[in-house]
Amino acid sequence: MGFESFAKPYLCGPKNRSMHNIDIDVVEMTLDIAKYVINRITNTSPELGKPMREEDLKALVGETVTEEGIGGEKALQLFKDVLVKATVPIDHPRHLAFVPASPSRAAVMFDLVTSASSIHGAYWMEGAGGIFCENEAMKWLVSLTGLPEGSFGVFTSGGTAANLSAMVTAREHWRRQATNQGKKGLIITSIGAHSSIKAMAQVIDVDVHLVDSEDRLLGGDLSNAINDLSPEERQRLFAVVATGGTTNAGIVDELDGVAKVCKKENLWFHVDAAYGGGALAADSVRHLFNGIEEADSITIDPHKWLFSPYDCGAVIYKEPELAKKAHSQEGSYLDIFKDEGARGFNPADYQIQLTRRVRGLPLWFSLAMHGTAKYKWAVERGIALAKSAARMIEEDPNLELVREPGLSCVLYRRKGWTPDDYKEWTFKNHKDGFALVTPTKWKNGDTYETVSRFCFINPDTTEDDIKAILDSM
Ligand SMILES: *Cc1c(COP(=O)(O)O)cnc(C)c1O
Repeated sequence: MGFESFAKPYLCGPKNRSMHNIDIDVVEMTLDIAKYVINRITNTSPELGKPMREEDLKALVGETVTEEGIGGEKALQLFKDVLVKATVPIDHPRHLAFVPASPSRAAVMFDLVTSASSIHGAYWMEGAGGIFCENEAMKWLVSLTGLPEGSFGVFTSGGTAANLSAMVTAREHWRRQATNQGKKGLIITSIGAHSSIKAMAQVIDVDVHLVDSEDRLLGGDLSNAINDLSPEERQRLFAVVATGGTTNAGIVDELDGVAKVCKKENLWFHVDAAYGGGALAADSVRHLFNGIEEADSITIDPHKWLFSPYDCGAVIYKEPELAKKAHSQEGSYLDIFKDEGARGFNPADYQIQLTRRVRGLPLWFSLAMHGTAKYKWAVERGIALAKSAARMIEEDPNLELVREPGLSCVLYRRKGWTPDDYKEWTFKNHKDGFALVTPTKWKNGDTYETVSRFCFINPDTTEDDIKAILDSM
C-alpha cells in the first residue's frame, strides 16, 4: 500500500521505505482498524455521543499533527476514546432527529473497498469497472421512478449537489433560447422545499418564488402562483421544484398535478426526493409519487433512505444530453479517449464535480448482495414504524398527532408543552445517552407551532424504542 510503506510506519520512525515490503506495522494498523470497523458495524446500539467544545477536545487529545507523527496506534486510540464520542452516531436506533441514516454493513464495508481501489470516477477511461457498477445501481433507481427509456443519472455528493446540478441544467437549457439570454431566471417552489433549493438558487443567481404553504403543493396552487406573477416575472420563470417527501413532514407534493402545469406552461419540472426517494421502492406508498415519471430531473439521496454511507446523492435526468450540454468540461488534457474500451459513460459530464469518488459503489455492492426485495422491506419498515408511532400517540392522552404521518415522518405535540419544554426534553434525552429526538416547527395558518418530530430510517428501531421515548414526555 501507499503512504505508510514509504513515508511513515505505523508505530516507529521511518525505518522501512520500501514500496514493496509488507511492513509489520502496516499489518498491525490494518488489523486494528479492521477490528474497530467490525466492532462498530456490528454494534446496533452505539453510544449516543454528544458534541464537546473545541478547547475541551484539544485539552483531551493534545497535538495530533506533528512533524514526527504521533503514530497510528495513538491516533486511533484518541479517535476511539475521545473524538468519536463527540459525534452523534446517525444510525443509533433512537436517533430519530433530522433525517437519520442506517447504512447497511455491506455498504459500509464496500466503502472501504472503494477507497482501497483508488478509482477516479470522472471518466469511463479510468473508472470503467467502477462506473459500470454505479450504473447498474443507477438503472434500478431510474426504474423506480418510471421515467421513460433513455433517462439516466449520476451519483453526486448529496442532495444539495444533485439539486444544483439539475438547476444548472434547467437554467442553461432555458437560456439557450435566444430570447432568454442574459435574463435572470426564476423558479417556483413551496415553503416546504428543502433549504438547499434556496441556497443553490443563490449560487446560480436565480430568484425563488415561494408558495406559502407547507402542506402538499397542488397543481392548482402552482397555477395560481404562476397567474399571480407579473408579466416580467413570468418571462423569467423557467422551472418548478416539487418535493417528493418534505424533509420536515414527509409530504409528497401533487406530482401529477404539478407535472400537468409544467407541461402546459413549458417549465422544467424538478422533483426533489432527496429524503423521500427511497420510498419509491415501497409498494404501500408508491402511488403518492404518481407523476414523478413526468419529471425532467429528480434528486434522490441514497445516503438518506437507501442505506448508503455518506456521502451519496443522485441526480436523474429525463434527457441526460441536456445535462451534458450544461456540465461537460473541456480541456486539452482530457481529450484522450482513443481506446475503444475508454469510450463510455462519463459521470463528470452530468453534474458539477470533475474528480469524484465512485460513491455509488457501496450502494451497488449492497444491492447486489441483498437484492432489491430487501431494500423494499427495509423502507417499508420505516413507514410501518411511523404508523406504529402514530397509533401510540393517539392512544396517549397527553399526546396528539399534528397530522397523519407523511412517509416515515411523524409530527406530534405534547399537550401543554411550551417550546422550552420540548427543548429541555431533547437536551435531557441526549445528555442521558438515551435518544435524539428534536423539536421542529409546523406552520399552522399564520403561526408556527413548536412540535416534536420523528423520522424513521433505521429498520432496527423497535416499537419498544418508540414507546420508551413517548413515555419520557
Ligand atoms: C436532505 C435534503 C436535501 C439536501 O441533501 P444533502 O444530501 O444534505 O445535500 C435536499 N432536499 C431534501 C428534500 C432533503 O431532504
